[in-house]
Amino acid sequence: MTEPSAPQPHYWIDSHCHPAFALREPGAWVELLARSRRAGVGEMIAIGTGPDDWDLYRNLAREHPAGVHWTLGLHPSEVGPDWEDSVDRLESLLAASPDPAPRAIGEIGLDVFRVAKPDREEVLTRQRQAFRRQLDLARQAGLPVVIHSRETLEACLEVLAEADFPAERALFHCFADGPEAMEQLRALGARASFTGLVTFANARRVQEALGVLGLEELILETDSPYLSPEPHRGRTNEPARIPVIGECCARLLDCPVATVADRATANTRAFFGLPIPPGGDLPGASGEPGDPA
Ligand SMILES: [Zn+2]
Ligand SMILES: [Zn+2]
Repeated sequence: MTEPSAPQPHYWIDSHCHPAFALREPGAWVELLARSRRAGVGEMIAIGTGPDDWDLYRNLAREHPAGVHWTLGLHPSEVGPDWEDSVDRLESLLAASPDPAPRAIGEIGLDVFRVAKPDREEVLTRQRQAFRRQLDLARQAGLPVVIHSRETLEACLEVLAEADFPAERALFHCFADGPEAMEQLRALGARASFTGLVTFANARRVQEALGVLGLEELILETDSPYLSPEPHRGRTNEPARIPVIGECCARLLDCPVATVADRATANTRAFFGLPIPPGGDLPGASGEPGDPA
């Protein structure tokens, strides 16, 4: 009797992860890449949060030109009193035309969720300034932006409008709001991406928002090491879990998993301007990621 052959995995891209967590232990990164490849996750975008990870992610992207892409941005939670120094550094990094080129400015935005109430006003003002300046830099560089917004959607939209930034080049990552907010984003032409949050049984409003977005503009991300999807909730997340999120979206949208994989891959490629790898969107076709060359 022959063994039933393993189902061929679909091709996925993790549009948002923070792989720095896997670079601290020797061997962990190579294993993470191998698990990603086995799961059919052929590419990932390493999202910058501050000067400490920009060089790291640029180097990763250089080592894995077909499998790892990178972005740079000052995350709102990293916007301290000295934020201007960091954004100056971002500006000079961009001006030096890094190789490979970053795929977006991000993640940038607003988040005062963990800031003590009396300090919120001041911190928010600073975050708005940093957000605005990075939007201007993105526009000058012709790059899209990845936005981090935590219960700050209206304020983020205000800053985008002030900056006259084209909404269709703004991706609200880790969408955690409800269907009304999704309607609002769609009316403006702005984009949104879904994490493992959508798999949580208590995330009904996020699931409704997915229904409003539908398949046509779907983009998926892990935001790893955070937000592991069910049934891995609470554990360290990684790009290899993108198919778990995609399978949940397929159930919620009542369509085949292959359709979700193809659509999300094409949308991510188009938004970030990622080249089609040699051999096309086939698992392992380009030998990436996984080759720790
Ligand atoms: Zn974020
Ligand atoms: Zn993130």
